Amino acid sequence: MVYDLTMLKTFYASYVGKIEHIRNILQRPMTLTEKILYAHLYDERKVKDYGRGEEYVNFRPDRVAMQDATAQMALLQFMNAGREQVAVPSTVHCDHLIQANKGAEEDIATATKTNEEVYDFLCNVSSRYDIGFWQPGAGIIHQVVLENYAFPGGMMVGTDSHTPNAGGLGMVAIGVGGADAVDVMTGMEWELKMPRLIGVRLTGTLSGWVAPKDVILKLAGILTVKGGTNAIIEYFGPGTASLSATGKATICNMGAEVGATTSLFPYDERMDVYLKATGRAEVAAMAADVAAELRADEEVMANPEKYYDRIIEIDLSALEPYVNGPFTPDAATPISKFAEAVVANNYPRKMEVGLIGSCTNSSYQDLSRATSVARQVKEKNLKVASPLIVNPGSEQIRATADRDGMIAAFEGIGATIMANACGPCIGQWKRHTDDPERKNSIVTSFNRNFAKRVDGNPNTFAFVASPEMTMALTIAGDLCFNPLRDTLANADGEQVKLSEPVGEELPRNGFIGGREGYLAPGGAKTEIAVDARSERLQLLAPFPAWDGEELPEMSLLIKVKGKCTTDHISMAGPWLRFRGHLENISDNMLMGAVNAFNGETNSVWNRSIHTYETVSGTAKMYKSEGIRSIVVAEENYGEGSSREHAAMEPRFLNVRVILAKSFARIHETNLKKQGMLALTFIDKSDYDRIRERDLISVTGLKKLAPGSRLTVALHHEDGSSESFEVQHTYNEQQIGWFRAGSALNAR
Ligand code: SF4
Repeated sequence: MVYDLTMLKTFYASYVGKIEHIRNILQRPMTLTEKILYAHLYDERKVKDYGRGEEYVNFRPDRVAMQDATAQMALLQFMNAGREQVAVPSTVHCDHLIQANKGAEEDIATATKTNEEVYDFLCNVSSRYDIGFWQPGAGIIHQVVLENYAFPGGMMVGTDSHTPNAGGLGMVAIGVGGADAVDVMTGMEWELKMPRLIGVRLTGTLSGWVAPKDVILKLAGILTVKGGTNAIIEYFGPGTASLSATGKATICNMGAEVGATTSLFPYDERMDVYLKATGRAEVAAMAADVAAELRADEEVMANPEKYYDRIIEIDLSALEPYVNGPFTPDAATPISKFAEAVVANNYPRKMEVGLIGSCTNSSYQDLSRATSVARQVKEKNLKVASPLIVNPGSEQIRATADRDGMIAAFEGIGATIMANACGPCIGQWKRHTDDPERKNSIVTSFNRNFAKRVDGNPNTFAFVASPEMTMALTIAGDLCFNPLRDTLANADGEQVKLSEPVGEELPRNGFIGGREGYLAPGGAKTEIAVDARSERLQLLAPFPAWDGEELPEMSLLIKVKGKCTTDHISMAGPWLRFRGHLENISDNMLMGAVNAFNGETNSVWNRSIHTYETVSGTAKMYKSEGIRSIVVAEENYGEGSSREHAAMEPRFLNVRVILAKSFARIHETNLKKQGMLALTFIDKSDYDRIRERDLISVTGLKKLAPGSRLTVALHHEDGSSESFEVQHTYNEQQIGWFRAGSALNAR
């Protein structure tokens, strides 16, 4: 079945004409990214060569996807927009709130009960505003989108940072905060700074133990967690055709780990077969008709360095499997050097749990290759040293894998099959451990491995690898095991080697299942009620408009040291339950951030009571006393997820300014949308001047204009003071959001 066929037919019928019109105006060859972006300009009359990394552009994406944890806040905002229905096809996916504990069936039953109020709310709002609703257990947002909605040449936004997964089918798919999703769902223009372009040229072909995941694990090591900021990664070259559509999706998915706005691949045969295998032959046919415009122009391919801002070359034939981590996805180590790194860095060598699945790596091909390794346990009389957890990406994948014996192969080596949901990937894992204080290592096929993300335990060293490598390490139970080189002792005392994984790209007998748990748009128009006593949901009150004054003598709430992701600002795990209740979730604000003055988390100087207190407790006290505060931070502040709670919580608790060395793209936009001031140091060493008990003034707001500078004055406790200039990236429209109190207020 093809969803939203009318929209797709309209899109493909006009696509080539739009590209010709754009080419006539630009008068130059185009990359694939440019074709798709320009074909989605909000106002078609405004075609011109937009300055990459400089100019803001308004777009009209084709669709929106929201996962349950972020959909709550997105829909609470949408309800205030006064629309009767969404302007573009939109879907909600219940995947984040299911805790992995005993196994799929029990866990879904528990989640349905525990989250009943939230699921009812999401279901009723979806029905009320014509949004498609995927119930708990139906699958993880990005897998379901890839199987049902992604289409070559399209553009979508999703309230999740791994929305770029759909780039595996040649779609520009961008992770955003809920307020951005509301723009698109209300039919308004959606704004993005024209991204820079990073071209990644793939040559050769993968073989043996090397998986598509290793392409992005290697690239993460090259680009680091912020090397893709404000850039789109476009893959090209002969190597692209050797990767399955789902393998491409894995690579695009993890482009989020280098901060890329999105990633995408050119349309090819592998996308065609995937579209057909997932019941979308009509889409495949329409895409094939415009195939020439679903890839970069020939002139671009001949001289890529002229058209991309940076070129990176990766030879797939020379690629090794990688294991990345711990604590950051860009710590990339090829398997040939990993054992050495484990010993040199004193990582806990025993591997305690292997986890396979997530939206990143749960395709038929992934599970098929991992089971080819799992089956060798019986064939070679081996024992499995570590527990294994598997989260299939969707009911379609699970049902098909079950029919084809893969689920039995995993269970045969003792695996627990969890729900088709995020589970441990978002900290929803009731991990049973003998001693949480003990340093321990786990390996996952997920995408993120920040401290505490998977099990909330700072002593867990999480490493990221392909599903087949995760499987091999699980069997060995030893991080120093290299399946390409090492042998394992079997029950007969023989040394045996694991054979290279093999797998099928797509099921020979087709997919089965997959529509279970889906409620189509157009259901009953029930009134939406939110209980004022609810601890999970709270209707939103607009943030106050700017009072027209400068910001004198704000209290320093926290000066953050080192990495500060959205997980540090608004933790997931147990806090996911409050994602629809701004007041309650604000209790977790910045609790994972390290205070630069005492090296501790969630312990900051509270000037009102002259002692150390939690960050949110201090901010709440300041708010009740009418005191405004400021947060100071280092590089890439807010990297990671798209969750706008990380911007709304400080706004709610009267923090007025975040002053950082640099910001992650989505988070900076989220701050702007919520009426916060996101400022950056001009001279990064000014960070060192800020003292713990400073009062900090920010002036220049009355003359705030694009490109203007503001002044920060530090009033030290000893009576001295000093000042320096800071900068911002607000354009006229965004300054309007600040003045109005938020983007929603400015509508
Ligand atoms: S990255 Fe993890 S938490 Fe996010 S959508 Fe994928 S599986 Fe879910």
